[in-house]
Amino acid sequence: MTGSRKNLIILGAPGAGKGTQAKRLAGDFSWVHLSTGDMLREAIDKGTPLGVRVESYVKAGDLVPDDLIIELVGERLQQPDCGSGFLLDGFPRTVRQARKLDELLPGLGIHLDAVLYIRVPDDLIVERLSRRFTCSECGQMVIGSAGISECPECGGGLMRRPDDEPDTIIHRLGVYRENTRPLIDLYEAKRLLFEIDGTGSAETVYDRIVSALDPDSKGE
Ligand SMILES: [Zn+2]
Repeated sequence: MTGSRKNLIILGAPGAGKGTQAKRLAGDFSWVHLSTGDMLREAIDKGTPLGVRVESYVKAGDLVPDDLIIELVGERLQQPDCGSGFLLDGFPRTVRQARKLDELLPGLGIHLDAVLYIRVPDDLIVERLSRRFTCSECGQMVIGSAGISECPECGGGLMRRPDDEPDTIIHRLGVYRENTRPLIDLYEAKRLLFEIDGTGSAETVYDRIVSALDPDSKGE
């Protein structure tokens, strides 16, 4: 299936494993992985006119307005590497952004093939994220389990990022659901949505995604 071009959006709550899956899909199928965070950093680093405008918001700690993000996405999608297919990760986040994307794509001659939604039950996300620790010495990320009390790399103490405290996770999930539910409904109505069961190992989830995208490849 290498070289089969697809233009995709990938959705999933924090802790659903979206980034891991997106990276692997991009690598295996030569699609460009377009994470909004990376695109913002890249534009700022390059000092493009758009990057300069973006930077003023990021520096002030403000949300970058939709119009700027969509402009950034539009610029990026026109670069030749996206011609072999892409995976948009982190955009759109809201129905408003999705509508803007809809207005943008036809003008660029781009057609969206599918929206992957990696669905993981809330309790499992809380469990996954609350097992995530960071080494206070070397910064290594460590998945906690019984008997692990120090960093396997350097023996440093383990701490939890404030973002991974259970209360914060539940709050982040709430915000995510509020924005994403209507987005999912929208893509479902357009018959673009592929809901993927995100439970189980990363390997299992990956296989489910690949079969969903190309049912004919099953068993090959
Ligand atoms: Zn360490």
